[in-house]
Amino acid sequence: MVKAVRGMRDILPADSGRWHAVEAEIIQVLRNYSYAEIRLPMMEYTDLFARGVGEATDIVEKEMYTLADRDGDSLSLRPEGTASCVRALEEHGLLYNQTQRVFYNGPMFRYEKPQKGRYRQFSQIGAEAYGFAGPDLDAELIQLGYDCWQQLGISDRVQLQLNTLGSGAARGAFRAALLDYLRPLVNDLDEDSQRRLETNPLRILDSKVAATQTLLEDAPQLLEFVDAEGLAHFQQLQDLLSQLKIPFELNPNLVRGLDYYTHTVFEWVTTDLGSQGAICAGGRYDGLVERLGGRATPAVGFAIGVDRVVLLHELARPQPVENAAQIYVCVTAPEILGGAMQMAQRLRQALPGVGVRVHMGGGQLKKQFKRADASGATWAVLFGAQTTETDLVVKHLRDASIGQQQLPFEHAITQLGQI
Ligand code: ATP
Ligand code: MG
Repeated sequence: MVKAVRGMRDILPADSGRWHAVEAEIIQVLRNYSYAEIRLPMMEYTDLFARGVGEATDIVEKEMYTLADRDGDSLSLRPEGTASCVRALEEHGLLYNQTQRVFYNGPMFRYEKPQKGRYRQFSQIGAEAYGFAGPDLDAELIQLGYDCWQQLGISDRVQLQLNTLGSGAARGAFRAALLDYLRPLVNDLDEDSQRRLETNPLRILDSKVAATQTLLEDAPQLLEFVDAEGLAHFQQLQDLLSQLKIPFELNPNLVRGLDYYTHTVFEWVTTDLGSQGAICAGGRYDGLVERLGGRATPAVGFAIGVDRVVLLHELARPQPVENAAQIYVCVTAPEILGGAMQMAQRLRQALPGVGVRVHMGGGQLKKQFKRADASGATWAVLFGAQTTETDLVVKHLRDASIGQQQLPFEHAITQLGQI
């Protein structure tokens, strides 16, 4: 048999209930904050990511799935959602002179080393807001994230890390100072950091290599380069978070891998998932829209790594999350199968969200009850020749004290609905 592509997983029926619960909870919170869904293509012109994510990022340098289509155009599977989101809103004239709050949900593709919590196809739910320049929206997005963790019961397992990159100019001045500091030390840097020195030196700050971290102890600090306006933005954000009682930790080395961030950057991290500790990352990227060819538009957003949130949810709530509750319809004789299938349809309409399956393939009633039991269903409904339009015979499969009862349809529905 051909196997799945390395790093691309199947979510099997036994696990999809948890996935659905996690996604539904997050999307519910997003809707509660008035974010509307945007559905974006899975592929874009490679150039969008080269410009939008940045040539000198790991993503564009070595993680994209890029192919030439039959016309010779270079396309890439999306490695993230922000660039597409900006592209789509700009293309449809939805950015200029207006505000937008949107979210997207779906798979992203990056060629990385697969391990627990790191896959080549993974899922993100991202939120983005456009046209808001102030720290109030930064705070709202953080509050929204915190709400998600609370709803999912994982808020005590995650910490918020916060930093500011200042304006584009502050970032540029800091970059120059960091280069002056690091260039004489180049031979002591790890290989990745040596390469980044000329392409994306800010990335060196979040190197995981201990020797590099030691070298950075005396490096210039980004915060020293942030101007008064940038500092005020950051201070107001912190004040708001304190009022909202959302705990945070300042992390001056948090710079994010993507080139387009300015001002606020944040990450929700956990220590429960080994080195794949970030479950959500975001920040402000006021320069991106202009860089992609639109008019300057402030923007801020985050992306949740759903695979990691699902892992964390499993740690917090190890008991399986069931798919829909089930009812199993047993049919006593082949000639009444059509009637049983019609009755099952009435049950489905009366009990949305409950799975109703009709026994297939006929056979002895005893065998059908065995199947009903093995299916995990809570109730069996017995459909026999004497079953009338109005009465149903129902049997609780998990609680012998309830046993078998004959009930009028409406009563039966109430009974069956209590699973
Ligand atoms: P990391 O440092 O873990 O590689 P990142 O900085 O590349 O993360 P972002 O591009 O900010 O990640 O994506 C936002 C979130 O998406 C991450 O915090 C993480 O939860 C999730 N994520 C990113 N890459 C992967 C992956 N390969 N597999 C699973 N989840 C991922
Ligand atoms: Mg990464």
